[in-house]
Amino acid sequence: MPAPWLDQGAGGAGGQNVYLHHVAQGLVKEGWQVDVFTRRTTIKQEGVVDTAFGYRVVNVTAGPEELIPREKIYEHLHKFLFEVLRYQKEHGICYPIVHTNYWLSAWVGLKLHKIQGSLQVHTFHSLASIKFKGKSDLDEMDTIRISVEKEVLEKANSIVSTSPEEVKHLKKMTSALDNVSIISCGTDQRLFGTMDRTTARMFLNVPLDTKVLLYVGRLDPRKGIETLLQAVKNLISEQLNLLVLIVGGAVAGHEDSVELKRLKNIVLKLNLKDVIKFEGLVEHGMLKHYYAAANMLVVPSIYEPFGMVAVEAMASRIPVVASDVGGLRYIVVSGETGYVCPPSDHGAFSKAIDFILSNPKWGEEAGRKGRKRVEQHFTWDNVASKLNDLYKMLLEKYKKYRISAASELGFRTATRQVWHFRTEP
Ligand code: UDP
Repeated sequence: MPAPWLDQGAGGAGGQNVYLHHVAQGLVKEGWQVDVFTRRTTIKQEGVVDTAFGYRVVNVTAGPEELIPREKIYEHLHKFLFEVLRYQKEHGICYPIVHTNYWLSAWVGLKLHKIQGSLQVHTFHSLASIKFKGKSDLDEMDTIRISVEKEVLEKANSIVSTSPEEVKHLKKMTSALDNVSIISCGTDQRLFGTMDRTTARMFLNVPLDTKVLLYVGRLDPRKGIETLLQAVKNLISEQLNLLVLIVGGAVAGHEDSVELKRLKNIVLKLNLKDVIKFEGLVEHGMLKHYYAAANMLVVPSIYEPFGMVAVEAMASRIPVVASDVGGLRYIVVSGETGYVCPPSDHGAFSKAIDFILSNPKWGEEAGRKGRKRVEQHFTWDNVASKLNDLYKMLLEKYKKYRISAASELGFRTATRQVWHFRTEP
């Protein structure tokens, strides 16, 4: 069960929340005290929440107490920083490690590193240099983001990259790259893969003889859902009893609701309204029904820094057809646990989907292999254990520097606290 503050799959939040929840929980098991600082997005949120998972969430008032677009968050970061410093003062603590997630948090982490000597570990989750590739009219916020990402890459004590593909991009951004570790994202292998298809189909009211294609994730043009719709159009025939479930939420007034409208228009234009079903946001714990019910997951992203949904599907023993980009080309072993196809190439997607639907035994075997790969490489326990080793190594390596920086400010130095950081909704 995810924490109540998680709002995955809508409003731009997505996988980072799933990541933070599991990493925080795993680090607590490893013996760390973990405080997650986040921007308050509703007046209902209490200031400090002790979760049932052992970590604490500190909701900071910085900017309007409502969901706001990411581009509007930067202007509230000074206030965020001020509130963090105030919290530390009130509680007489100075976090020895600040693990920042996404570029907005990186900005605050850089300041804290400078002010109080906190060691900064950073995970990008998404890179501007890839996101804006080919974009000719960069606005002011894009330019600020690019410079913050470059600065954190050069100054953080450690960068946690989630895939070898991301490291390749980071190498292009700086001349010396000696602070990077690859620690991928994980999945909950005890949540996914514990349900059989018949039970899941009964739960979702889907007949057993229907072929089900599944998409899970945010509704964002970068996710390439249009490619899936086109691929389905190529496949459709009277003999094929096909259902496509699209799982992911949209918040009125946000970009995802614009994308939902656009996708619904494409569905109408392609005459697919009997085949495509928009399921809306599904609570993370309930997703296991969808993965178990599906014949495969399709991840047609134009770019994907990691792609946790692919790992969730593999843990659920179903094959994955994904774009040959980013983390997906590392997660999916093409020809073994599914297939990767060139992004936006709907012809290639429909061929791969058709092959798996026509060869159910191959699909089952791919599902088994996927599960094995997840157990070997992509569990949260694995991720937490690697982060534990990394933090311990950093505390040892920067011992002298940290103690002198903290004592200058009159702080006591703790060794087992870590502060995870998330500034976006
Ligand atoms: N998710 C969810 N419910 C939904 C849609 C998505 O719980 O309705 C979760 C999904 O299970 C996954 C995360 O949101 O854990 C998406 O992560 P991913 O890395 O695939 O994409 P991101 O959002 O980071 O781009």
